[in-house]
Amino acid sequence: KIEFRDVGKTFSVEGQELRAVADASFTVAPGTTHALVGESGSGKTTAVRLLLGLEQPTTGEVLVDGETISHRTHADLRDVRRHLQLVYQNPFTSLDATWRIRHIVREPLDRYRISSRRERDERVREALTAVGLDEGLLDRRPTNLSGGQRQRVAIARSLVLRPDVIVLDEPTSALDVSVQADILDVLLGLQAELGLTYVFVSHDLAIVRQIAHTVTVMNRGRIVEQGPVGRVLSRPFTDYTRELVAAVP
Ligand code: ATP
Repeated sequence: KIEFRDVGKTFSVEGQELRAVADASFTVAPGTTHALVGESGSGKTTAVRLLLGLEQPTTGEVLVDGETISHRTHADLRDVRRHLQLVYQNPFTSLDATWRIRHIVREPLDRYRISSRRERDERVREALTAVGLDEGLLDRRPTNLSGGQRQRVAIARSLVLRPDVIVLDEPTSALDVSVQADILDVLLGLQAELGLTYVFVSHDLAIVRQIAHTVTVMNRGRIVEQGPVGRVLSRPFTDYTRELVAAVP
């Protein structure tokens, strides 16, 4: 379970205080998908960095399974991070183009020195199968792959440490529309099979409607609205959300 309790994050920019996130509270139940929605600059990325322990909150706390991840030691954080993986927006820049797929997907296992070399290779194959990729791709490099295949590789990479939570930062927005649906299907299938919890950052409400159970709408660092996705998108309480919904074709 993930919990933000009155979390605030202020940056000091050229002597000015900038509130990237203010008084944010939300919880994400295990096995569900929580979407963070908002326009550029609304504070979504900062919220994700707080969740991953990459930023310390100025106020409040971020809890994962009841334990605060704020002010952890480096070693503690490393342990928490094993259970929290991140998939970036753009698989054209997030995967090292010079590495073979085998190496890219295995890298987290190597880093954490998980089990034997043979078991690592076995886990890599399992992860590749789980995202619907052929083992024949293991010795290819990202440059030979399509955008959809690359994003599947990135998802496979996020699975090998068997995390509980995957943070998906606009995971389909760099892909062709026809491929976006495939990636959503992969994510939905993995969640059903493995009980994963997703935090899904997006500005695309059509996609949020398909994948999320609950949603937090942010504007300029503040939460404007949150709740079950059906209610928020069909009967928004605020003008801001109403306008976001109206912008979806
Ligand atoms: P985008 O979709 O463009 O990434 P976002 O919703 O993720 O937007 P954030 O990146 O979280 O928004 O930014 C929220 C605000 O905080 C912005 O005004 C941004 O300029 C500011 N901000 C974020 N990180 C820093 C930082 N390290 N130093 C100073 N200001 C920052």
